[in-house]
Order: sequence, then C-alpha cells, then structure tokens
Amino acid sequence: MRIAMIGTGYVGLVSGACFADFGHHVTCVDKDEGKIAGLHAGRMPIWEPGLEALVANNVARGRLQFTTDLRKGIEGADAIFIAVGTPARRGDGHADLSYVFAAAKEIAEALTRPAVIVTKSTVPVGTGDEITRILMENGAPEGTSVASNPEFLREGAAIRDFKIPDRIVIGAEDDHAREVLREVYRPLFLNKAPILFTGRRTAELTKYAANAFLATKISFINEVADLCEAVGADVQEVARGIGLDNRIGPKFLHAGPGYGGSCFPKDTLALLQTAQQHGAPMRIVNSVVEVNDARKAGMADRVAEALGGELNGKRVAVLGLTFKPNTDDMRDAPSLALIKRLEEGGARVAAFDPIGHEQAEPLLPNVEFAADPLAAVKDADALVLVTEWDEFRALDLREIAAAMKGNALIDLRNIYEPEEVKRAGLTYRGIGRG
Ligand code: NAD
Repeated sequence: MRIAMIGTGYVGLVSGACFADFGHHVTCVDKDEGKIAGLHAGRMPIWEPGLEALVANNVARGRLQFTTDLRKGIEGADAIFIAVGTPARRGDGHADLSYVFAAAKEIAEALTRPAVIVTKSTVPVGTGDEITRILMENGAPEGTSVASNPEFLREGAAIRDFKIPDRIVIGAEDDHAREVLREVYRPLFLNKAPILFTGRRTAELTKYAANAFLATKISFINEVADLCEAVGADVQEVARGIGLDNRIGPKFLHAGPGYGGSCFPKDTLALLQTAQQHGAPMRIVNSVVEVNDARKAGMADRVAEALGGELNGKRVAVLGLTFKPNTDDMRDAPSLALIKRLEEGGARVAAFDPIGHEQAEPLLPNVEFAADPLAAVKDADALVLVTEWDEFRALDLREIAAAMKGNALIDLRNIYEPEEVKRAGLTYRGIGRG
C-alpha cells in the first residue's frame, strides 16, 4: 500500500513510521519546513520513546519519506491520512477545523486519481461530510472516498499503542474505503487487534466519547480525593478498592492536579459544543470540565497552605513541567496553570523537567530553569512535584531537604510515602491522603 500522511506531528509521525514498519510505503507531509529538514537530517521534532530508531530504520529501508510538497507526497497514494492539528478555537471551545479543511482542499487540487481520504485528526461529528463537500467542490476525481479513523494512541507510549491497539475504529460509507483500510491495517488483523467498522459519524463521535469518559474518570477520582481529605480517608486505597472491580477498572483513577495535555481539554470542550449544537446537552461532561478547571487553578492554594498561607516572596521549586511523563508536550499542562498562579501570588519559581525545557521555556518566561532537581530546589521554601517522571520517584530526600531553605514538599502525584518524606525532615502534603 502507498500511504500519505498529511501532518507530521505527534500523531502523523508516529502513525507514518508505524505504517512503514508494517511494510507499507509512507510519505509524511508537513508544511513546517524546519520539521521536514530536521527529519531529513534524522532529528525528531518531538520526544517520543523509540521513535528515532523506528524512523531511522524505515528511512534506511526506503519505506518512509518526508516532504513539504503535498502534491508530490500524495502521488500514487491509495490512502491519504489527514493528521493535522484540531486545537480549540479561541473563545468558544469549538474544534478549529481550518487546518483540516485547508488540507482537504490542497489534497483535492493535487489528486490525479481517486484515493481514500482518511481523517485521523480528532474531528467533530459531520466533519467527514464537510470534507467530502470540499473535495468535490475542488475537483477531486470521481471515486474519491472519505473515511474516519480516529487515533487513540497515548503520547509516551505511542508506538506500542499504535502497534498493539486495544481497538481500531474505522468509519466508512463505502466498500472501497473499507477494503483499502482493511488492507492498511492487515498486519494488525494478524495480531488479532479488534477492528470496528462503523458509519463515519459513529467513528467521529467514538473518539470524543472515549476521551470524555476518561476525563470523567479523572475528575471523579479527583473529587473523591477532596472528600478523602475532608473525612480522613486515603484516595489511593479507595482507587484500588474500586479499580479491582472489573466493571470499573484500575486505569485513570490516579488523583492529581487535574488533566491536561493536547487532547482531553480541547476534546471535552468540542464535544460540549457539538452536544449544544444538536440540542442534546451533556451535563456530566460539562461538570467534568468545570471540576477540572477549578482543580488546576486550585493547586497553587495547596502550595500557599503548605507555606503558611503566603506565597509572596517565597521561592518554589517545581519538578516536572510536561503534561505527563515521557513526552515533551506542554499543551495545557497543569504546571502552566500552577506556575501562573504561584507567580501571581508573588512567588519566584525554579523548575526542572527531564525533557520539556525547550517546549516550556517560551511559555514560562519568568521561570528559572535548573539543570537538575537539586539545582531547582536550592534555597526553595517549597518543592512541588507536578509530573511523575520516573527519575523523580527515588530522589535523595535528605539531600533535597539539605539544599532547601524551607521544608514543604507538595506531592501532586502521590509518588512518595508521607512517612519517608517526614523522616527526611520535610513536611508532606499529597492528594487525597486525609
Ligand atoms: P501536532 O500539532 O503535533 O501536529 C500537526 C502537524 O500538522 C503540524 O506539524 C503542522 O505543521 C501540520 N500541518 C498543519 N496543516 C498542514 C497542512 N495543510 N499540510 C501539511 N501539514 C500540516 O498535532 P498532533 O498532536 O499530532 O494532533 C493531530 C490530531 O490528532 C489532532 O486532531 C489531535 O486531537 C489528534 N490526536 C492527538 C493525539 C496526541 O496524543 N497528540 C492522540 C490522538 C489524537
């Protein structure tokens, strides 16, 4: 199969490289010249475990190419995936579809023979219909079809998720599209990955429903954590106690500073807009968004409380900036809301992240970026653990305590045992450990 991937970001690059690894011939297209020049030189535009070797291997075998020239990139392609960004539109939370529609128009103008156009970007219900219209209006050849194939990979485990998915969802309205996509994913059929063929609208909605449900689990356990603090219970144990129930499951029950990242915040908002537009409001998702916004904003209050109610003039060390470990992605990271509030309160912030500095620096102009955790905590009144990178799980707490001026440790991911922290001479404040 010949595949073109339009958009070479977190999803496009991983998907393109994995498809190439299955044996398909893939051309990844991006209009960001710096990205493509970097990829030609073997430099990854994102940090994702295992990606560099996967890309290098498939480039060396002649199955993976990169270009900024969409016309050249889609030449002879059987399937053309659209994997461009769909950020929240400023002001109203609608998914901004301008990149998707621009890509569809460019594809239509460049296509010389029919192909299956597949939306991998997360797009609201009905977007496939709109793409079909754009293709037809801009001269796409007769026989071109449009399918939806939402992506469920997680950053940080993206290659594994792509190659061993829980399921693949394909929304198509014609047999040809189904056949082409069946062939594209045939290597995974052999792995017995469940493939669900649905209508296009169903596939589009499935992606939003999945993300909204996961966000709901997170907001739910975060509220349970607050109740645990009020009544003297332990949320970790509650989560284990409910998560062992097969009907509930253990995942996404980690209380913390609120969800962030490139998907949940924008996808929950976009789903609410769709629901509103179609007169079927989703009150649960609405609450999830409200709970999460309040939670992210409220994390600075926990730091202030640990510091006796005063942030002004205090020095706060933040460990972990990316929205989760094993990625460099800073989009909507809880660290951003926290640091903003700390700075508004008059605190000075020093931070360390194993991978995220380059992405974080432009977003956090007043933060001092430290070279390692020990440098970050030097003379700090409080240490806030925001992202649970593995290397933060076994810090030498006595050394940390000796380097700090104050003694407050605020563990927003519950990765430390309170007793262990106290033994090192620090005070402990976690999440939901009443
Ligand atoms: P991204 O911002 O990392 O990448 C998008 C890329 O598309 C950019 O490199 C941009 O330059 C390129 N682009 C935009 N318009 C283009 C055009 N007309 N031609 C060529 N290239 C173009 O975005 P991402 O995180 O990979 O997300 C892409 C989509 O996948 C979004 O809809 C997102 O919601 C969805 N998604 C993301 C994840 C994730 O974990 N990041 C997971 C599942 C689904």
